Amino acid sequence: MLGVAADAWWVEHAGPEAVARRQRARLAALVRHARHASPYYRRLYHGLPAEVTDPRVLPPVDRPGLMARFDEWVTDPRLTLEALHRDVLDGPSPVGARYLGGYHVITTSGTSGEPAVLVHDRASWAAAAAVLRVRARRTALRPEVLGPVLRHGLRTAVLVATGGHFAAVTVAEDLRRRSRAQARRLRVVSVLRPLPEIVAELEEFRPTVLVGYPSVLRLLAGERRAGRLGVDPALVAVGGETLTPAARRAISGSFGCPVLDEYAASEVPALAVECPRAALHVNADRYLFEPVDERLRPVPPGTVSATALVTNLDNRVQPLLRYDLGDSAVLAAGPCPCGSPLPVVRVEGRSGAVLRLRAGAGPTVEVPPLALGTVIGETPGVRRFQAVGTGPETLTVHLEPDPGADLVLIRSAAEARLRAFLDARGLVTVAVRHSPDPPRPDPRSGKFREVWSR
Ligand SMILES: [Zn+2]
Repeated sequence: MLGVAADAWWVEHAGPEAVARRQRARLAALVRHARHASPYYRRLYHGLPAEVTDPRVLPPVDRPGLMARFDEWVTDPRLTLEALHRDVLDGPSPVGARYLGGYHVITTSGTSGEPAVLVHDRASWAAAAAVLRVRARRTALRPEVLGPVLRHGLRTAVLVATGGHFAAVTVAEDLRRRSRAQARRLRVVSVLRPLPEIVAELEEFRPTVLVGYPSVLRLLAGERRAGRLGVDPALVAVGGETLTPAARRAISGSFGCPVLDEYAASEVPALAVECPRAALHVNADRYLFEPVDERLRPVPPGTVSATALVTNLDNRVQPLLRYDLGDSAVLAAGPCPCGSPLPVVRVEGRSGAVLRLRAGAGPTVEVPPLALGTVIGETPGVRRFQAVGTGPETLTVHLEPDPGADLVLIRSAAEARLRAFLDARGLVTVAVRHSPDPPRPDPRSGKFREVWSR
């Protein structure tokens, strides 16, 4: 872990060419290993050059294709899908326990299709933890964060979905297993419980660091503002959902502390970390991130992608090379003013989140979810919302007002703002409908999607 941390620090200071050198060397080694130890990749890469340093020569892979050939995909023959279900996922193994001498087994919640079963080897798991710490240091090690933590002790509340071997809870339970001191300092609070119970548990634990989904932290920020929650964190770290500017303001305003955004997935657990300029930097020395169009062809920086291909350069037991992550994103064209050579990414959301709307026989207009979400989310009095493209000419909006605010007035204010936004894009006949139902998080993952297309 120390070696990875030192390398991550060195690469960041050595500049873009050092990052590119690391990428080429690590990709070549990973491709060699995948061809040697994974029957799936041996067949897939048959006929490719002996030495691969450019990812674009590799055919992309996706979750259904890999899951269908799971036992040939992994490089340890003891890891069959049947054994993993029997021993870990449906079996007696507690969440966060290691399997067969060091493997970490996690599953996705299955909110976007068939769940993936992912195995991380000990080295890649430790590398992800080390890279996260190194790249978060510029925010997390500021005096205004360190001071209160040193004075009041480090107690971290991890607000995530429980009830399965999901990535976030597995990371937390793995840490808790390492020592009794760690277990005392870290607590998992399930976001699937009712809000008053979450508030009561936080009041009792008094965390100095809060970790969780932006939507949950935003609800808690509202509870604190209303005087129902008395915790005083020195840092709030968020991930798992897109952090909108409105959510960031609500969270940092209410808790009065820095907010650290992270972008990761079960397949790529330390993909990107935010810098002090609030830009998400891809940890490009450990992961390749390629925004692509619908036909999986690379798109240039500045272009909103249909999806993104990711490569985990560390994990040897279950090689992931040019894997379709299903997220829509934009790479920044220029460097970040913070000085980091790591590329800046803006995440739009899941691929289905880009709305395709049109007015009558007019052209289809792609509406990025962040822009649309900002229009609704910035309407005064809106606590939470969901906007669903329910047809090419229909947008259905679910609004939840701030406590005491007038829902009718807020609906008409949000609609006026949406009208102007849609009209400016020529979408004059696209209708805005208000649903009587409040916005709701996904019942299994606890995650909250603001904008998507049905
Ligand atoms: Zn930056």
